[in-house]
Amino acid sequence: MIEVLFLLLPVAAASGWWLGQREWRRRGVNTVSAHPDFLRGLNYLLAEQPDKAIDLFVRLTEVDRETAETHLALGSLFRRRGELDRAIRIHASLIERPQLSPDLRALALFELGQDYLGAGLLDRAEALFQELVRLDLQTERALEALREIYQRERDWPRCLEVAEQLAGLTGMQRPAEVAHYYCELAEDARRRGDLPKARAQIDLALASDPDCMRVLVLAGQMALAEGEAKRALELFRRVAAHGPTYAPEVLPDLIQAMESCGEDVIAELGLLVAGRAHPPLVLALSERIEQTQGASAALDLLADYLAHWADLAVLERFLALRARAAGPDGRTRRYAEVALGVARHLRQHQPIYHCERCGFQARTLHWQCPSCRCWGTIAAILPEPIEQIPAQSP
Ligand SMILES: [Zn+2]
Repeated sequence: MIEVLFLLLPVAAASGWWLGQREWRRRGVNTVSAHPDFLRGLNYLLAEQPDKAIDLFVRLTEVDRETAETHLALGSLFRRRGELDRAIRIHASLIERPQLSPDLRALALFELGQDYLGAGLLDRAEALFQELVRLDLQTERALEALREIYQRERDWPRCLEVAEQLAGLTGMQRPAEVAHYYCELAEDARRRGDLPKARAQIDLALASDPDCMRVLVLAGQMALAEGEAKRALELFRRVAAHGPTYAPEVLPDLIQAMESCGEDVIAELGLLVAGRAHPPLVLALSERIEQTQGASAALDLLADYLAHWADLAVLERFLALRARAAGPDGRTRRYAEVALGVARHLRQHQPIYHCERCGFQARTLHWQCPSCRCWGTIAAILPEPIEQIPAQSP
């Protein structure tokens, strides 16, 4: 009997069976006794016959603390393996036990909610987590789960409510997340043409997090659309000066605002590039230089950059200008176009952004990481400096 329990311990460890382990350590394994059907169920598990095991577990007439903890651990294990039907069956049967203690019932409710969440049954999961909050059991975890559900449903007012509840419970404010919720509401209002509402949400976002780049982008876009070029320029300058991640989001609008305000676009872009030579800034400056000073001056700028930094977007632009400048010599043009094709192909497969938290890579900016669902963790991948490798002799 005890040997079987020892055999189960690795299973328990893998499934996060911390409760059971704590109890067993406290009481000593030798004191554990269990219903024969429970042990038969464990044997079925070890024989890789999980459905027979679950049949026995859910039919057990008596569930004490140890067996309940085993139910929880097994349910969690099944969920982690993606076997959500089995997890739901175990956790749901546990909740129906009248003799279950309130703390274990709360754990079972929470686990069942996680099963439903994993299965995409958001309504059922939401009802369970709301029940836990109402009972003030597993409250913080239940609120976190509700926040996850409301984010998936893009129900931003409820996200704000939950964020406020969590702040009241834990004492920890989440200004960056709250600012993003208001930004989402502002974007919704702007899409509907409700500009006063959009402005009000932007003010709330700024009040929550004055350094939120997203709200500066939004406020600048709205100011530019309303003819307030000076204010837009001020906001876009702050975004561009913040760094490479958000500058591409505002570059065309920034240039438009500069033009509207009669600013020297090349001089200002040149200052930005001198401060932080990020590829989108270099590309914007090279386009402007090509328009006003010609292709040779733009090529000089790009060549200076590529002498120090390895970036495929800048290389592609450089080769495109070279191909165009190749003149009537068909062979020279073809060589340049072949190189351009290779650079273009490589660039299309090169990620531009990555999540600083989970490593997710993307070609477009996401305010919320699609993988770990954190807000504001996506950053631009910076080009690598060119290694000075001596040229090989032919
Ligand atoms: Zn992430």
